[in-house]
Amino acid sequence: MSLLSVVVPAYNEEKMISKAAYTIGEILDNAQITYEIVFVDDGSKDRTWEQIEKTAKEDPHISGVHFSRNFGKESAMMAGLANAKGECCAVMDCDLQHPPETLVEMYRLWEQGYEVIEGIKRSRGKESTLHSICAGTFYKMISKASKIDMTHASDFKLLDRGAVDALLEMPERNSFFRAMSAWIGFRSTSVEFDVQERTEGESKWSTRSLIQYALTNIVSFSSMPMQIVTFAGILVFFMAVILGVQTLVKYFLGHAVEGFTTVILLILFIGSMIMISLGVIGYYISKIYEEVKGRPRYLISKKIESKVEE
Ligand code: UDP
Ligand code: MG
Repeated sequence: MSLLSVVVPAYNEEKMISKAAYTIGEILDNAQITYEIVFVDDGSKDRTWEQIEKTAKEDPHISGVHFSRNFGKESAMMAGLANAKGECCAVMDCDLQHPPETLVEMYRLWEQGYEVIEGIKRSRGKESTLHSICAGTFYKMISKASKIDMTHASDFKLLDRGAVDALLEMPERNSFFRAMSAWIGFRSTSVEFDVQERTEGESKWSTRSLIQYALTNIVSFSSMPMQIVTFAGILVFFMAVILGVQTLVKYFLGHAVEGFTTVILLILFIGSMIMISLGVIGYYISKIYEEVKGRPRYLISKKIESKVEE
C-alpha cells in the first residue's frame, strides 16, 4: 500500500487537533488507506503544540513540525510537504472546513494515475457580501495573470510525490500554493467539495492579512500593476500634447492662457500619478529585496516523526 501524507497547517487550533486527527484517521482507516498526518504548528500562541505532542503519543500516525514563530499558512504548507514521507501528499485545513471524506475520493483518483488533484469549492460557505466581492476581484486578476481559472480554487489538494518535489524545488519565498500547484502542470483533475462550517475557534484571517495576502500574490504572479503605470503615463502624455498645442496656439495668437486653476489641477493630477506609480514600483522592489535576501521560508524549532510503516 502506498502511504498518503495529510499535511495540516495549524495556527492556534488547540481545540481542533485531536478532533481533526481522529476524524481524518477514522475515515482513512475505513477506506483502508495507509496514512500519516503531518501537523504543522505555525508558531501558535495557545497549546496547539502540546496537543500535537499528546495526540502523537497516542497515535503512531501523527507527526508534527513546530515553527519558531508564526510564518503564515503558505510557509506551513511548504514545511508540511517537505516533512511528508508519503508517495502522495494532501493538504487540508485543521478546522475540517475541507471535508475529509473528499480525501478518499482524491486518493482514488491518484490511484488511477492523476498527479495533481485540486479541490474546487462548489460553494464558498458563509461569507459577507464585501468579502465575496473582494475575493471575486482578486481571483479574477490572478486567473488572468496565471491563465488558470482560480475563481473556485482552494488549498485543499492531493499531489503526487513528483509534483510535491517540483513544488519544493521552487526557490521563491513568497509562495502561492493555490496557483503554483496549477503552474507546475502534471496530469491534473479536480474534485468538487462543499466548504463546511468551522465548529471550533475562529478564522485566523483578519481583513488586513487578507489584503496583504492578495497584494503579495498578485505581485508574485503578475506584472500587470507595473504595466498599468506605463499605460497611465501614455494617457497623460496624450493629454499633454493636446493641452500643449492649445496653450501654444493661444500664445501665438496673442492671448496667453491665464489659467492658474489649470496649473494647480495639472500639478495635483500628475503629482499623484507619479507617487502612485512609485508606490507600485516600490512594492515590487520590496518583494525583490525579500527574495534576494534569501532567508529561509520558515524555521523549525521542534519535530515529531510518525511511526507508520510503509
Ligand atoms: N493557518 C496557519 N497559519 C496562519 C493562519 C492560518 O497555519 O497564519 C491555518 C489555520 O490553522 C487553518 C488554515 O490555515 O488550518 C485555514 O485558516 P482559517 O480557517 O483561519 O481560514 P479560513 O477558513 O477562514 O479561510
Ligand atoms: Mg477555516
